[in-house]
Amino acid sequence: MEILNGKVVSQHIKEEIKKEVDQYKLAGKRAPHLVAILVGDDPASQAYVASKVKTCGEIGFESTLVRYEADIEEKILLEKIIACNADKDIDGILVQLPLPKHISENKVIETISPAKDVDGFHPSNQGKMMLGLPTFIPATPYGILLMLQHYGIKTSGMHAVVIGRSNIVGTPMSLLLSRNAEPGNCTVTICHSKTKNLKEICLQADMVVAAIGKANFVTADMVKPGAIIIDVGINRITSTETKSGYKLTGDVDFTAVSEKASYITPVPGGVGLMTICGLMKNTLLAYQNQCNKS
Ligand code: NAD
Repeated sequence: MEILNGKVVSQHIKEEIKKEVDQYKLAGKRAPHLVAILVGDDPASQAYVASKVKTCGEIGFESTLVRYEADIEEKILLEKIIACNADKDIDGILVQLPLPKHISENKVIETISPAKDVDGFHPSNQGKMMLGLPTFIPATPYGILLMLQHYGIKTSGMHAVVIGRSNIVGTPMSLLLSRNAEPGNCTVTICHSKTKNLKEICLQADMVVAAIGKANFVTADMVKPGAIIIDVGINRITSTETKSGYKLTGDVDFTAVSEKASYITPVPGGVGLMTICGLMKNTLLAYQNQCNKS
């Protein structure tokens, strides 16, 4: 069994991006600029945004963190996005999800200019992805593809089982793995909360992508020997081992499943770090697109 090590792969990708950014700066150009908008004080969202902003600094990007109270009017948020859309010195905009209930996530996503939608959630970008056209691929599935590529894992002909059908992870992941590309060319089964005989389906999988949001949901008896296991889940569970009183765990029972898998991503230290790489690569692409226009 080999661990798919997000720390190693993300470090490698970040160094590559930084080299490219240094070249632009040497040529007298400005740095790529990402704006991150955080609404409210959800601890997990705060931590995700903080690590995105920190990564920007590491790779030479400029970043701006915009914070609003949880009770902010939807209108104010939309106006801020519209102002960022119009600002030529901003390349990428991300609004950390989930948003408070009184704000429409769909409206927010649709307000972000598709050219700056580095999370790849805008319907126009999701449509392009479905058609295999150049676009921003949602950061988590993109990060997983980068991870598979880095380890030289050839997925062609595999049966991939994706558990979870969200618009940001499960659905785009299933589409990307079925594309005529490498990584890709898988036969994909997408499973969800209404799937019957999930265990039997998983037992047929050469690769399982778990994006459910339930700690230790995928157990060893659901996994075929030699399968590749990609654990997207980030679950906070109470723990007496940490000062904070909680720890992060994935959707996969890592200890037991790693004894059967050929490759497995740990949580933390796996897909989460790759998601940030996907976001940074999208921001670099948005910057390059913007530079080519002006
Ligand atoms: P979501 O809640 O939108 O979707 C969860 C999916 O799981 C749903 O499609 C649902 O049908 C499915 N599901 C629920 N119960 C099930 C069951 N019993 N059997 C089969 N399927 C079931 O979640 P999401 O936004 O896709 O996130 C999933 C997990 O991934 C969460 O833990 C989230 O925190 C994590 N996440 C991690 C990253 C990362 O960078 N690592 C990025 C995004 C999300």
